[in-house]
Amino acid sequence: MNSPRIAIVGAGISGICMAVALQRAGFPEFTIFEKAHDYGGTWRDNSYPGLVCDVPSRYYQFRFAMNPEWTQLYSAGPEIKDYLVGVAREHGLHRNTRFGAEVTGAVFDDDGWQVTTGDGVTERFDFVLCATGFLHHPTRPDIPGLDDFDGPVMHSSRWRHEVEPRGKRVGVIGTGSTGTQLVGALAGVASEVVLFQRTPQWILPTVNRQYTAVSKRLYKLAPTLSLVPYWFNRAAFAVFSQGLVHPGRVRTLIQWVVERHLRSVEDPELRRKLTPDYQAMCKRLVVSDRFYKAVQRPDVTLVTEHIDSVEARGAVTADGHLHELDILVLATGFDSHAFMRPMAITGAHGRTLDQAWADGPRAFEGVMMPDFPNLFMLVGPHSPFANHPLTAVAEAQSARIVGWLRRWRAGEFTTIEPTHAATDRYNARMRAAAPSTVWTTGCTSWYLGKDGLPELWPWTPGRYEKLIRGTPDPVDYHLKHGVPSGK
Ligand code: NAP
Repeated sequence: MNSPRIAIVGAGISGICMAVALQRAGFPEFTIFEKAHDYGGTWRDNSYPGLVCDVPSRYYQFRFAMNPEWTQLYSAGPEIKDYLVGVAREHGLHRNTRFGAEVTGAVFDDDGWQVTTGDGVTERFDFVLCATGFLHHPTRPDIPGLDDFDGPVMHSSRWRHEVEPRGKRVGVIGTGSTGTQLVGALAGVASEVVLFQRTPQWILPTVNRQYTAVSKRLYKLAPTLSLVPYWFNRAAFAVFSQGLVHPGRVRTLIQWVVERHLRSVEDPELRRKLTPDYQAMCKRLVVSDRFYKAVQRPDVTLVTEHIDSVEARGAVTADGHLHELDILVLATGFDSHAFMRPMAITGAHGRTLDQAWADGPRAFEGVMMPDFPNLFMLVGPHSPFANHPLTAVAEAQSARIVGWLRRWRAGEFTTIEPTHAATDRYNARMRAAAPSTVWTTGCTSWYLGKDGLPELWPWTPGRYEKLIRGTPDPVDYHLKHGVPSGK
């Protein structure tokens, strides 16, 4: 049987998921290009103190690789990274993986892709599957003098473990999920934590807990038991996501919960500084049981003045105050709209990705684009990201991609791409739905695109999953027929 040559770019959650889906569907010949030297993607890159996934472990996992050994309800970063490495090992993905191989470009040449890596070598593939993630390129704030700081400056996702925060004055810029987790972990370790807040966040309270040895043994003895918390959490997230995409009771309830949580901050002035002026969930909701406790400690200072500059001794705020620091941490987020860029991708008719995305990243059903035949994305533009586990999204999208590969193998087409008309219709429908989402209710966030509309799926993740696991409508695609290449 003819077998397609497949390149997967990236060995994080979605790359691993895609690779296993290919194996299970009888496509053992594929190459995973990974520019780093290990599996795990964002869970490899992020290793800052306090990193915990805010989605329960028994839900934040692949359905094909349920782990009975999770140690706690919300797993710490290293445990998730180990899980991902373990899944890759168990499926022998090292045989297909090239570490230290950065894909720098891909050019479509009529019925396949010329894929070039950083060492200048070019290889041909029938399909390119981009599993490059979107929280990958750190954003460095444009603060004058940042390079003049005497101590270490590090982005949260490039944690330097040789830098010892114990007994030091640590400045943290940013109050997203990362900044708040960092403050919770550094408080009481550093001699002083100075948190520079540009915008306050609503914080959903939670309680983490360890799993007992008995429960772990039980999950090991009866693997199907793992499906119970998996489906329970899925149902709970489905309810939560109603609040994201429509006004109504769930939104009101979450607002009430976060406001009550904020009341645990006793000092009225501190509480005022921590009170957002927008609705809960407008920015990605921060989930934490430690942040408010940490920020009320005497060794933690919340600074709401704008940082004017950084100098050798610390950060100078707009009121002229110099905050003397030993270490500066940039918890300032990511260029979430880059997706597979800076890879230079040129599709059919010489159209480049930058041209196609001049107005912002657009895709058809989150996985394909017109003019880029046989190129698929995992967790691409307008996938359901917000607080939703990407493991589930990647599994559903992998199934769709495998479906197309099977049809290629059956000789139904040599190349496939969505039509411009279908993509435009799809994007217009999403944009029309965007105003009822909570993300457009008056805040700035990494969810929003150039036009101020969210670059997220504006309905529930369940609806997306139904769509992507359903049967594609042939009118939406342009299929080219010919003699398949493959091998
Ligand atoms: P983020 O949510 O984008 O937050 C960046 C923070 O930096 C914001 O508070 C932002 O302020 C601030 N900031 C950016 N530039 C600044 C500047 N020039 N001066 C002062 N402040 C500045 O980034 P993140 O916290 O790294 O989180 C990114 C995403 O990663 C999350 O939304 C989430 O999806 C994921 N994440 C998940 C987990 C988890 O538990 N699952 C944990 C960590 C991260 P403004 O709000 O004013 O822009």
